[in-house]
Amino acid sequence: MTPKKPNSYKQKPRSVGTAKNAPEFTEAVLGPGEVDKDTAFFKLYAKMVSAMTNFDNIDVELIENLLIELCRIFRLSKAVTHVYRNEQEEKDGKGETLCCYDNGKEGEQIFFFRVVTSVMTIATTATYMSPDEKPLDDDERKKVELVMKTVLSFVSRNRMRDLVYELAYFDESGYPNLRNWCEYLGRICAQKKTRDKLAFRYNLRHFSLINREFGRQVGDGIMRSHYDQLNMQLGEDGFIARLGGDNFIGVCNAEKTRTVIDYLTQAEIRTPKGEGVNITCSAGFYRMPNDHDAGFDEIMGSIISAYRVAQTGGMDSIVFFDDSFNEKRVKGMKIQQEFNEAIEKNEFKPFYQPKVNVNDGKLVGAEALCRWFHGGKIIPPVEFIPFLEETSEICRLDYYMLESVCKDLKRWTDEGKDLVRVSINFSRKHILNTYFPETIAEIVDKYKIPHDLIEVELTETTSEVEFGELKRMTTALRNLGFHISIDDFGIGYSSLNLIKDIPWNVLKIDKSFLPDSCEGSEMSSSNIMFSLVVSMTRQLGLECICEGVETQAHIELLKRYGCDLAQGYFFDKPIPVEEFEDRLEKGKYDI
Ligand code: C2E
Ligand code: CA
Ligand code: CA
Repeated sequence: MTPKKPNSYKQKPRSVGTAKNAPEFTEAVLGPGEVDKDTAFFKLYAKMVSAMTNFDNIDVELIENLLIELCRIFRLSKAVTHVYRNEQEEKDGKGETLCCYDNGKEGEQIFFFRVVTSVMTIATTATYMSPDEKPLDDDERKKVELVMKTVLSFVSRNRMRDLVYELAYFDESGYPNLRNWCEYLGRICAQKKTRDKLAFRYNLRHFSLINREFGRQVGDGIMRSHYDQLNMQLGEDGFIARLGGDNFIGVCNAEKTRTVIDYLTQAEIRTPKGEGVNITCSAGFYRMPNDHDAGFDEIMGSIISAYRVAQTGGMDSIVFFDDSFNEKRVKGMKIQQEFNEAIEKNEFKPFYQPKVNVNDGKLVGAEALCRWFHGGKIIPPVEFIPFLEETSEICRLDYYMLESVCKDLKRWTDEGKDLVRVSINFSRKHILNTYFPETIAEIVDKYKIPHDLIEVELTETTSEVEFGELKRMTTALRNLGFHISIDDFGIGYSSLNLIKDIPWNVLKIDKSFLPDSCEGSEMSSSNIMFSLVVSMTRQLGLECICEGVETQAHIELLKRYGCDLAQGYFFDKPIPVEEFEDRLEKGKYDI
């Protein structure tokens, strides 16, 4: 059974004169010709009760028209029913008017009833009669009382139904929730109406930063406006629900795709003070299959796959699901299944990529990058790490890599080699693990490696929760004497707060900051950006290293702007441990 939004019972006062088709209506209900008043009453009353108990389809207009007729029979001038959520609302007269009849004549109150139901609801109903009219006799009084009590119980029952509906299908901020969306999707699937429809899931990017800048309340308003405007653009055939936080899920008609994408990639919302806020989203879309073979699980699985890819993409990335996703899903499952055995068989090995001082060619460090020796091939990390990220197996791999590096460092120590600091990549998945710093220290201490030889590489983060956790974790790592670097700086959303408030000591500038060609003029935008990042890093007292250094021109650029350290193909690709040992031995590059 799928829920329908109950009809709204909020009615504007209506008078007989404006009641639609009122004369014909009586005839339609009672049949043509003269009917005595008693028969009319019973017929109208029975009809009203039946309309009120037709749970599948409450026809508010019909009920109202029947009430108008009943009020007329009893010469009433006015009948009003109110609902209040609590006593204060009742005192202030701020409830909702649910049923109202008013023929415009002045009247005195002749009846008043009030019920208080258990779910914070007070309902009242009052009837008025003009002194010009013939007063009600005993029998009429009983009938009017019966009608009023029936209306009252109908109103409070429906109020309850509204409340249950709201609790079940809307979240605490009044957005439709996932259950609501699932029911909606289930309904269009069951009715075979998925043709030309797209399902999508999106996330408002950097919303935690908006909250931080404008405050929670204004942030909520911005989110609401964004939702309302998109909802309006979707029209009647669309639906959006909130999954929680700044995550939403929706359905739209294919013809609206362009509009939706334009809106999601760039929308400007105004704050109450009139400031414009740009909102961009990452979203995964899925065009639903035609009627007959639309399956609910398939639709959900597909938008989620597309969304995941969108999330790993750049700024405002929109990804459409296609069949390659299914292949990827199968591949991912295979990797996840093979992972345990691969760890046990030591199939993962660190390759080392040297870090070099561009001024004198001195080898100053290395980054350990994972390679999987499997089935006679060397598999690069892009082909398996994203799948391990899905299940948190990545954390196990990272600790395994750390341990492998420690074993190498231990061996080099025993062989009397000059040691350099080695950095290891750690997934953001670790952020939620409270024991992360202790676990690292435990592994490193097992091999008696000085902590300052280990550098933890972490990527930027934007969510509010993660920010707090990240700060706690990095502080603990620093207190333990480890180095910490921000990896891939510049490709995510690099917030200055993030750099200022987290105790990093190394910033790794992403390769995308390096100009592609060496012809770039001194004032080209990438050069300006690069120089700004380097000088900011230096002013903050952080060590600065640039990744992806491939050419002599890159080296010149680094030197010109004072970035002393480089990592990249210009010196070496990530190389197997034996080869790296040769580099350690030499300790220097010719430049
Ligand atoms: P990353 O941490 O940004 O690592 C740098 C990547 O850039 C490496 O790719 C490296 O081979 C590549 N690279 C180095 N120099 C150059 C250059 O001059 N030009 C270009 N175009 N590329 C260069 P790789 O080894 O394929 O690793 C890819 C990503 O996989 C890494 O990016 C890192 O995010 C992840 N990764 C690798 N090993 C691990 C690991 O043990 N744990 C975790 N969590 N992630 C890892
Ligand atoms: Ca890295
Ligand atoms: Ca990097």
